[in-house]
Amino acid sequence: MRTPPRPVDIAAVFPELTAYARTTTRLHPRPGEPGVHDSSVGGPLLWPADEPWPVCSDPHAAVDPDDLVSVEDERLRRRILKEAWGETGFTDEIRARLEALDDRAPTAIPAEVPLLAVAQLYARDVPDLKPPEGADLLQVLWCPFDHEDEMYCPAVTLKWRRSADVGRPLAEQPEPEVAGSDNYVPERCVVHPEQLVEYQYSDFLPPELAQRIEEWEEETDSTYFYGLSVAQGWKVGGWSNWNLTDPYPMACACGSELDLLLKIDSGEWDGEQHWRTEDHEELEDANPAKVTIGRGYGLWIFVCPVSHDHPHQLSMQ
Ligand SMILES: [Zn+2]
Ligand SMILES: [Zn+2]
Repeated sequence: MRTPPRPVDIAAVFPELTAYARTTTRLHPRPGEPGVHDSSVGGPLLWPADEPWPVCSDPHAAVDPDDLVSVEDERLRRRILKEAWGETGFTDEIRARLEALDDRAPTAIPAEVPLLAVAQLYARDVPDLKPPEGADLLQVLWCPFDHEDEMYCPAVTLKWRRSADVGRPLAEQPEPEVAGSDNYVPERCVVHPEQLVEYQYSDFLPPELAQRIEEWEEETDSTYFYGLSVAQGWKVGGWSNWNLTDPYPMACACGSELDLLLKIDSGEWDGEQHWRTEDHEELEDANPAKVTIGRGYGLWIFVCPVSHDHPHQLSMQ
């Protein structure tokens, strides 16, 4: 899976930008049937059979009851829709099956919610994953409800492992019965990691350089922010955007500046099709992982470079 070359090699136009270049790994999740030994989005995770599956019993922000979905039925609904968009079309029988799912939709949030697998990334597949000493596997789970103290986003749990330490993996992985939104149920996907170069968000460039880039954008009808600096889509490492809130410091209690670990995104490319991938014609839409954060934002997960035991922090942009 590849990202076509950027329309302009911006570092050739502004050689000073090479000092602000960083690699990132776009994950390119695509629906598939990954196993526990594969990097994936939406699971399954390589989880030790004798280790309890994490649950959330934190308070949850109020949900519009119409937004509640059964996780299992949401997967079924997607399969039925796929069938309908394919050969069969929207027959009366398909309509009836979809209505039956609506009729049995959940009406309440359970007190205890098993976490949902969001991503599993092996260091061998993802060059920009920087695991702590001895670990080679990152597992990301979330509680699929809005949490007031997590910026009204799902609460994320990160688990680093040494995959060789997992003896017998858990065969039947728990899933929550209910999610606060169909947007929080990731489609089961294989990933196609691709490493590329990004450039720093313009607010953090020397003002004089940012000014010249702005003038160049006007002269050439180009866009540094959308098309040339930070990649769209799910990615590991690299730079972060701050276009929604303007930059605020991401610092650990230990005093260190946090690094971007992972961006969970609401699509692979934006409306203007910047960062559109080569397989776009085969995809039903720009959001194969079927996760949407807020009004189509990204959930940016930051970690402390000093220790992975220090708490991660989130930003929504
Ligand atoms: Zn929760
Ligand atoms: Zn720290």
